[in-house]
Amino acid sequence: MTPHLCVLLATHNRGKLAELSSLLADLPIEVISLATALPEKPQVIEDGATFEDNAKLKARAAANETMLVTLAEDAGLEVDALGGRPGVRSARFAGEGATDAENNAALLAALDEIDDDQRSARFRSVLVLIDPWSDASEPVVSEGRCEGAVARQARGTGGFGYDPLFVLSGSDRTMAELDEAEKNRVSHRAKAFAAMRPALVALCEQRVSAAAQIARP
Ligand code: IMP
Repeated sequence: MTPHLCVLLATHNRGKLAELSSLLADLPIEVISLATALPEKPQVIEDGATFEDNAKLKARAAANETMLVTLAEDAGLEVDALGGRPGVRSARFAGEGATDAENNAALLAALDEIDDDQRSARFRSVLVLIDPWSDASEPVVSEGRCEGAVARQARGTGGFGYDPLFVLSGSDRTMAELDEAEKNRVSHRAKAFAAMRPALVALCEQRVSAAAQIARP
């Protein structure tokens, strides 16, 4: 498929990069990674109060630096028994620079006293699309959620982050027990992506018609 559009995926998270790349695979889009576009890691302070604020911070920083159409995402886990934490602090629940294993251990410790029927949680993903060449003042925003509960023990080797602890609603499997294609059918990121897809398709169509105008004799 000849690409109609290049899209920068503004994330350093390898798990997200892989999932978003495969969600984009059937569109005529060439994916550019942040590491390719900006070999020096841009410093974005993710101090927004919401997933949307943080996704906008990441998208704006990368789009301003590169002038590429940019897709950024902020996601996290909200645990009801913890009043919605870790939420926007999901990547740093066990402290700045924490590994996935450290965050998972911190989550299990925080829920140690919580009964099985009180461990409900959800993943949320917010995607932000910015076209730095468009006149639109506001970026396109979409959101997806995936309901489940926090297990007492990690299970599975797929995915990343809290996947080994997250048991999907209506299933006894953790997110890490799904393969990538299965996760991409049910995940918060897949749902946010499905809602974003029409905007990406419209952008591809715009680029094709702009190219046709330029090519007209
Ligand atoms: P972000 O890169 O600032 O959006 O941080 C997201 C953090 O939330 C990750 O480091 C993970 O800990 C967690 N997270 C987000 N999406 C997922 C997912 O699909 N599976 C498991 N953990 C996730």
